[in-house]
Amino acid sequence: MKNRNAVVTGSTSGIGLATVRGLAGRGCHVMVNGFGDRAEIDRSCAEIAERSGTRIVYSGADLSRPEEARAMMAQAADMLGPIDILVNNAGVQHVAALHEFPDDKWDLLLAVNLSAAFHTIKAAVPAMRERGWGRIVNTSSVLGMVGAPHKPAYVAAKHGIIGLTKSVSIELAPHGITCNAVCPGTVLTPIIERQIAQQAQVTGLPEDQVLKAVFLEKMPTGRLIGPEEVAAAIAFLCSDSAASITGAVLPVDGGYTTH
Ligand code: NAD
Repeated sequence: MKNRNAVVTGSTSGIGLATVRGLAGRGCHVMVNGFGDRAEIDRSCAEIAERSGTRIVYSGADLSRPEEARAMMAQAADMLGPIDILVNNAGVQHVAALHEFPDDKWDLLLAVNLSAAFHTIKAAVPAMRERGWGRIVNTSSVLGMVGAPHKPAYVAAKHGIIGLTKSVSIELAPHGITCNAVCPGTVLTPIIERQIAQQAQVTGLPEDQVLKAVFLEKMPTGRLIGPEEVAAAIAFLCSDSAASITGAVLPVDGGYTTH
């Protein structure tokens, strides 16, 4: 993977940031994307670049806007060269009872968690086809495989991205490009920390009970998953060794979807 050029969306924290570290550690140059404190993001990019000896650049593109997603892909190619690896990882969540679920949250979740991947893939594919090599990994979720209450937009988008993954994988397989989805169980990152608070509000349970009843109970391993465990699965799917794995839906879920 040395000297491959990668874009990892939603990589200023959590699984995305761990994925940047994983890919950079294997010799990739990476464009980081996402929100957060700019000074902190710059510090973290500089630290990864120094440790890995690769180029780490940043785009603050808001991927709920298709034009920003397209501009980010163009900027990544300008700054790094043709993009070999695309990890669509940006995601947002909103938890509310169905009859109270805000319309604008439905639109936002579908835009960031599903449509953004369509726009980045569309932008990345011509250069990948030209070079006859490409790796696309989409971060879905266990909630792309099974349902859950109070999360209609998230569950719909995460199921949708698995459909997108399968369609893209078939179309691009003859061009040396793979497209796979990873489906994490509960990984302790900011998106989950916010959800624990929201779920506590919806269910009336204290936060420690929410963590146990809503998140840990479903995983036979009974423990939270580390972001670096998901990042390792993503890095493998981006490697040459995974050339024959495409259209796969890979749970990294402590057994969540086995029952
Ligand atoms: P996180 O909140 O740490 O990361 C989300 C990232 O997306 C951040 O970098 C954030 O800035 C970015 N982002 C949000 N809105 C954006 C926008 N409009 N444009 C660009 N970037 C935006 O959470 P995480 O857990 O690391 O989530 C990463 C992915 O993993 C998400 O797709 C999430 O749905 C998925 N996932 C997480 C879990 C979990 O338990 N944490 C489980 C299953 C799936």
